Amino acid sequence: MAATARGADVLIVGGGIIGTLTAIALAGRGVAVRVIERGEPMRESSWAGAGILSPIYPWKYPDALSHLVNRSLALYPALVAELRGASGVDPQYRVSGLIIPVYSAAEWAELAGALPWSQRFGWPARRLDGDQARQVEPCLSERVVGAIDWPQVGQIRNPRLAAAARATAEARGVVFDTGREVTGFAFQGDNGVTVRTASGDLHGSRVLLAAGSWTGGLAERAGFTLPVAPVKGQILLLKTAPGTLTRIVKHDQAYLVPRADGHVLVGATMEMAGFDRRTTLEALHFLSGALLDMAPGLADAEVVRHWMGFRPGTPDGLPYLGPVPGRPGLFVAAGHYRNGVILAPATADAMARMLCGEACPVDLSAFAPERPALAHAALGFPA
Ligand SMILES: Cc1cc2nc3c(=O)[nH]c(=O)nc-3n(C[C@H](O)[C@H](O)[C@H](O)COP(=O)(O)OP(=O)(O)OC[C@H]3O[C@@H](n4cnc5c(N)ncnc54)[C@H](O)[C@@H]3O)c2cc1C
Repeated sequence: MAATARGADVLIVGGGIIGTLTAIALAGRGVAVRVIERGEPMRESSWAGAGILSPIYPWKYPDALSHLVNRSLALYPALVAELRGASGVDPQYRVSGLIIPVYSAAEWAELAGALPWSQRFGWPARRLDGDQARQVEPCLSERVVGAIDWPQVGQIRNPRLAAAARATAEARGVVFDTGREVTGFAFQGDNGVTVRTASGDLHGSRVLLAAGSWTGGLAERAGFTLPVAPVKGQILLLKTAPGTLTRIVKHDQAYLVPRADGHVLVGATMEMAGFDRRTTLEALHFLSGALLDMAPGLADAEVVRHWMGFRPGTPDGLPYLGPVPGRPGLFVAAGHYRNGVILAPATADAMARMLCGEACPVDLSAFAPERPALAHAALGFPA
């Protein structure tokens, strides 16, 4: 397989962070790569997300995801340096820490798995009382009775990561076929896959489906079922004085992500609303209420922007990574849901290896496209 994949064309359907980083990894192996993107690359979920480099509740996931997260985090610093060097754009990757405030004894019970998980997976973590929590983050509510603090959790700015990744891919010879929508597939056995588009067919010896929330619909057109569906998330952008908040704050259904320049993201709704792109008053109300609950000290922040994006959701919260059974030459890397930016470097590395027939350093069997879903339903689609 290595001999046929190397030097041959790989078509990637979808120019989000998953498709683009995989394209960079393939180009680095000398593979000719074309990314087919129906709009502009990196303008969907990969632009809209909050860029928190930790799953929201990492201890609730199966270990396979934690291993993939740790592998991705290990790849991040070198990847960011590579992107910055090749593109001249700084994605503003930085360690800001993440804190989960606690308001009652019952909430401590819900976090019982957090510290044991942190120890098992090598994430420094500590338990704080309410005063200690307000000492490190003075904006936190007086009602906070304690917190768990992960000082090493990082973040990245999605729009900057997007610009850096696209420019790097282009500098490495990746071709972006923009404004071109994939509408179907034809399988040619050992001769690869034909990809149908409104403006003509394209052929690749390997094809990677990396179309985010739209991958479920494309899978249908390729004759198989993949339960990836959009979970809409709305985000509010605020501006405060730099340093007003330093850590990411996460509580219940919402989070705050402070950027170094004083911007603070308030995210994010979890809506099963199909592909409805509207931002709503209801979400504005929910997000501002969550902000005032968590950090009343930010009440006079300036409102800058309100946007939305579609998380590529799956029933068990895990992505689909691997070859599609019965569809020779077709691979999938989609359904990263709430964790696509964290998982992008490890996904790209694994998929590039797989497409080139190389061994993968992580066990991806938990993410096989044909796995039975719903084993971890609590992490999947919102009720
Ligand atoms: C509000 C919000 C907050 C988030 N916060 C975080 C976070 O803090 N940390 C984190 O790790 N993740 C977060 N995520 C999730 C993360 O953003 C996604 O998992 C990730 O961006 C998915 O990347 P992707 O490349 O698979 O999909 P996308 O970025 O959506 O890209 C898919 C691409 O495929 C293209 N496409 C679709 N159909 C076709 C077709 N038929 N033909 C050609 N092209 C097609 C689309 O136009 C799109 O450009 C968040 C997401 C949202 C919405």
